[in-house]
Amino acid sequence: MSPELPRTEVVVDLAAIRHNVRLLAERAAGAATMAVVKADGYGHGAVPVAKAALEAGATWLGACSLAEGLALREAGITAPVFTWLDVPGTDFEPGVAADIDLSASSGEELARIVDAAQRAGKRARVHLKIDTGLSRSGAPAYAWPALVKAAAAEPDIEVVAIWSHLACADEPGHPSIDLQAQRFQEAYDVAREAGLNPLRHLANSAATLTRPDLHFDLVRPGIAIYGLNPVPQQEDLRPAMTFRSQVVLTKRISAGESVSYGQTWTAERDTTLALVPAGYADGVPRTLSGRMDVWLGGRRRPVAGRVCMDQLVVDCGDDEPEAGAEVVLFGAGVAGEPTAREWADTIGTIDYEIVTGMYRPRVRRRYE
Ligand code: PLP
Repeated sequence: MSPELPRTEVVVDLAAIRHNVRLLAERAAGAATMAVVKADGYGHGAVPVAKAALEAGATWLGACSLAEGLALREAGITAPVFTWLDVPGTDFEPGVAADIDLSASSGEELARIVDAAQRAGKRARVHLKIDTGLSRSGAPAYAWPALVKAAAAEPDIEVVAIWSHLACADEPGHPSIDLQAQRFQEAYDVAREAGLNPLRHLANSAATLTRPDLHFDLVRPGIAIYGLNPVPQQEDLRPAMTFRSQVVLTKRISAGESVSYGQTWTAERDTTLALVPAGYADGVPRTLSGRMDVWLGGRRRPVAGRVCMDQLVVDCGDDEPEAGAEVVLFGAGVAGEPTAREWADTIGTIDYEIVTGMYRPRVRRRYE
């Protein structure tokens, strides 16, 4: 048996995921809920999150690439799965065969899906994407009528939906939201005139929470499923991820001794240090050096000096934690421990990046 890696782990609270999905599905009211589990469930594990979300009232799953969608099928999930971003040359046949709904932003993409449907001997389920202002994927308005016409005339596909994605939904009241909604309506009118009767979906988490008028037939929340709130208003969301480790050893150092590379931190008094086997290779950003606390022994304590590749050092003052004592790097914040949002704010990013960055081979993932 191979020796255990230093025990640093991500613990995912599936009850929190279920709570959050229930809340979102209730807010979506008449619309169906597509739980977005791309990027390995935002770092929480796509398959366990998908299963929990389906138990809690989601009826669709969203992933980015076809490979991510097929992984859900391989795990035995039979709910509708929608995927939307693949490189040119991707063979969609396995997707059509596995009943994965596919997105088309252009005539070229549509043609590849049609080709895949013919080879699979089955109609492909397609969601046509209109770019309403994010300027990423999606047909621009000038190409939309031709795309819709081509799709409507194609017997080998079923146009399930039209869809788009918002640029500034996390800033409620931002004028681009209404402008995108108006363009989405115009795109829908064009589709109806071409004889289509598609579903519509536009709302991410922020719009699910703040814009009931934009729920249409289906909402696509991601970040809120994981308990991270993208909007300024208070919401009863429960962060599902805790990043924890443990004390490996403790030692006393004298005032004047320095800690870690570069000796950027020097003890002002005699103190106890606790070594924790979590570093930037485990997901602790090195840019948090000198700017982070951990939760250890029922209180916050500062990290002394630089975060290293595999370890960091905590200043414990006159306390002497036991070897093996739990160290919470971030969690839900309920007891006072740091949160993913706090890390993000400190280093100038968003909590999405913190949690998705937690998928690392040497960090064990555990579910409770
Ligand atoms: N829909 C699409 C196309 C996305 O790319 C994303 C994520 O970025 C989502 C929905 C979910 O967004 P959020 O995590 O902000 O709810």
